[in-house]
Formats: sequence, structure tokens, C-alpha cells
Amino acid sequence: MHCPFCGAQDTRVTDSRLVADGDQVRRRRQCLACGERFTTHEAAELVMPRVVKADGSRESFDPAKLRAGMLRALEKRPVSSEHIEAAIERIRQRLRARGEREINALAIGEEVMGQLRALDQIAYIRFASVYRRFQDIDEFRAEIERLSSDSASSSSVDITGRDQESHEH
Ligand SMILES: [Zn+2]
Repeated sequence: MHCPFCGAQDTRVTDSRLVADGDQVRRRRQCLACGERFTTHEAAELVMPRVVKADGSRESFDPAKLRAGMLRALEKRPVSSEHIEAAIERIRQRLRARGEREINALAIGEEVMGQLRALDQIAYIRFASVYRRFQDIDEFRAEIERLSSDSASSSSVDITGRDQESHEH
């Protein structure tokens, strides 16, 4: 590729390594003309399945939307961006691995819950409460009780009212 600094065609790869669990190749390059260094990332381009929403309409898979939903649940939680991005990438991989052209929006929500559960229990509860909209309050209560007994140290699971406010009609 052309040097982004001077436009020269000849660049030399000075370093090459696998990143993102081996799904990407990161290359350090140096321009032979001006000597500037830059980095490129190479990844396979894979098509994500289309998303089928509850009303039957279809839309393209939107990773930004997925990230926004997860970040909302993870707000002020002690989880690093690195772990969040890794979780998002795992969700994408799992959705692609189904090998289907279309995927139900509910199935994506389930994948998100699975990842949040491993990342942070509070975020998981927040997401699950909004996602399931308390339709099944017994199941929700059972889930909280199960989580509290899992972690013997903290018996109280603090879900602040913040998440529910935006979802009241
Ligand atoms: Zn150059």
C-alpha cells in the first residue's frame, strides 16, 4: 500500500504479529522513500447475518448498537475496555459461527447476556432486566437469588433505578 505520509509505493514490513486472538495480523511498515513508520491491520472480511427484529423487520447487524447496549449495562462498573471489546468480538464470532444468513434479535440478546454474565454480574442483571423487561418477574428474582448465592461475599445485588427509568413508557 502507498505510504500515508508521502504517497510513495514502496514500503517495507518491519514487524508482523497476530493480534485479536489470531484473527488479525498487525504489521509495522516503514516507507522506503520518507522513512515514516505506520501500522496496518489485516482481517478476514466476513459477512454478519442479518438481524430479524421482533416485528419481523430486518436490519444489518450493527456492532455500534451492540457496544452501546453493553456499555450502558457496564456503566461505572470496573470492567476494562479491553475486556469489553474482547466480549464484543466473541459475540460476533459466535453469531458468525452459526452460519446462518439471518439471526433473531433475541438470540443476540442471549449472547450478550452470556458474555455480560462472565464479565460482571451487576451489568448482567441490568441488561437482563431491561432486555426481558420484567415480563417474567419470578425468573428474574430467581436469577438474582442464584447470583447472590453464587458469590457468598456479597449477598445484596444492587441494581440502581437508573436502568429502568428510560424503559418506562
Ligand atoms: Zn513515505
